[in-house]
Amino acid sequence: MATDRTELTSYQWRQLRARTLAASDVCIVCGHRAADAVDHIQPVSKGGARLDPDNVAPIHGVNGCPVCLRKCNSEKGDRPLSEVVQLHTSVDWFAGP
Ligand SMILES: [Zn+2]
Ligand SMILES: [Zn+2]
Repeated sequence: MATDRTELTSYQWRQLRARTLAASDVCIVCGHRAADAVDHIQPVSKGGARLDPDNVAPIHGVNGCPVCLRKCNSEKGDRPLSEVVQLHTSVDWFAGP
């Protein structure tokens, strides 16, 4: 089995990355624009599909978000998106009457 890193630099991955960023630059973690990287919503190491467009979304990479200054990709790391977003929405915005 090839390592993830080898395959992530493959032509197919670069194509998918370019297409994802062309379609949207809204970061999946913080919701701001100007995302300059992409990441897997469900990490490949956790069973996510590596080259499925539905599993790949824009995210702020090494330069971080120009709005909230978070480094979303390194914050997310290897965790599923649902886990990361929960960490930052602990405020009960949705706890209506
Ligand atoms: Zn972000
Ligand atoms: Zn942001």
